Amino acid sequence: MSNIVDTETYRDTISTVDKDGKRVWVYPKKPKGKLYNYRKLVSYGFLALLFIGPFLKINGLPVLMLNLVERKFIIFGMIFWPQDFFILVLGFLAFVVFIILFTIVYGRVFCGWICPQTIFLEMVFRRIEYWIEGDNNKQKALDRQDWNFEKIWKKTAKHAIFVAISFIIANTLLAYIIGVEKLQEIVTDNPANHLGGLASMAIFTGIFYWVFASFREQVCTIVCPYGRLQGVMLDKKSIVVAYDYERGEPRGKLHKNQVRTEGDCIDCNQCVQVCPTGIDIRNGTQLECINCTACIDACDSIMDLINKPHGLIRYASEEEIAEKKKFQFTTRMRAYTAILVVLMGVFVTLLVTRKNIDATILRTPGMMYQKKANGNISNLYNISLINKTNEAYPVTLKLLEPQGEIKMVRSGLILPEQGITEGVFFAEIPKSELHKINTEIKIGVFSGEQLITTKTTKFLGPAN
Ligand code: SF4
Ligand code: SF4
Repeated sequence: MSNIVDTETYRDTISTVDKDGKRVWVYPKKPKGKLYNYRKLVSYGFLALLFIGPFLKINGLPVLMLNLVERKFIIFGMIFWPQDFFILVLGFLAFVVFIILFTIVYGRVFCGWICPQTIFLEMVFRRIEYWIEGDNNKQKALDRQDWNFEKIWKKTAKHAIFVAISFIIANTLLAYIIGVEKLQEIVTDNPANHLGGLASMAIFTGIFYWVFASFREQVCTIVCPYGRLQGVMLDKKSIVVAYDYERGEPRGKLHKNQVRTEGDCIDCNQCVQVCPTGIDIRNGTQLECINCTACIDACDSIMDLINKPHGLIRYASEEEIAEKKKFQFTTRMRAYTAILVVLMGVFVTLLVTRKNIDATILRTPGMMYQKKANGNISNLYNISLINKTNEAYPVTLKLLEPQGEIKMVRSGLILPEQGITEGVFFAEIPKSELHKINTEIKIGVFSGEQLITTKTTKFLGPAN
């Protein structure tokens, strides 16, 4: 039975805001331990992938490019245009269901181990801060002391490095948006030709610098929608970073030569001191907890000192701690898994059956049919072609059904790589082939002899 008397009052406030509504700056103690070392390794892999990502290509196309300006998206070397939007939406839905399912089972593992905000803040910016300003107590002392040479050089060096790293992150983000080639052009060309690009670079740099130098954990507690949704996603069976109050309570300081009757928590506060969001995990699962595991490492090191087993704070579900129940696959998890499988199935089918070239053929609005001297009937059409590959195609059109021919208004169509081309043409059909006012016709889009796609459209003719 827990000896925590009031388990709810701490939920009325957040640890980073005082009662006057002012920000309380968190000075977390530098974490160390097994899990922190694993997290460092994961962060090296993530950072390497993130910075190399814009240079990686599949079939000559970037692995990931999200060009919101031109509404062109490339994922794993596949180009998605606005016409493929439904595939992206479905992929996004599958991703959201996956995140929900993953969160229901494993809590906020993502936040602590993979989230770019946590990785950059805890594994890049915070470590630079520890390196220049020292551990938490030295940082506090430095902030309190008057401006002198030491404070000036430390703060200047730290913020100069922060700005430089923010600039690199901003450039990387831009490379994911506009592609690395366009970014190189902005950097090497006359600045006057790229004022928009340079302004974006400066704005992104400023935002990243502000987030990592000042706003910090507030992103997780105030801004991040995923963090705020934890309350509805987690339940008693979710595995989270949790304090084993059954084992730890009643907590009490350790005294020499004392016959200890209290629980295993010696109230050393180490778990609170290392917490980057400034909370006490012994109060229970909280919105602010990003599952960074720093408190697990801190508590395990204390358990080593007092010869107690690890795991007073560990990955565990509330049910495991309260009722000693092991992990179970619940009905809710089964339902989400079924939805995920269906969504993934539809998504993969759409992806596999997706055409590399999309054509839209429409009769030119406001135009009637024309009677030719040879008795044939012709209609004027507009064609728009989208190339989702990295190869250029010369394109020809053929009337497949009924019998007749296509006459381009201007020269033949060349479909550029990753591009769009438009054209105008006449479809000319012998009158004998037309039996009603509106006839459905089938047009083939060819590259050389290869049929790339077919389109059906309406052909207007005289009533017989
Ligand atoms: S680090 Fe462990 S022993 Fe120390 S206060 Fe936290 S839970 Fe208790
Ligand atoms: S409570 Fe523990 S796991 Fe949660 S944010 Fe704080 S240190 Fe990290």
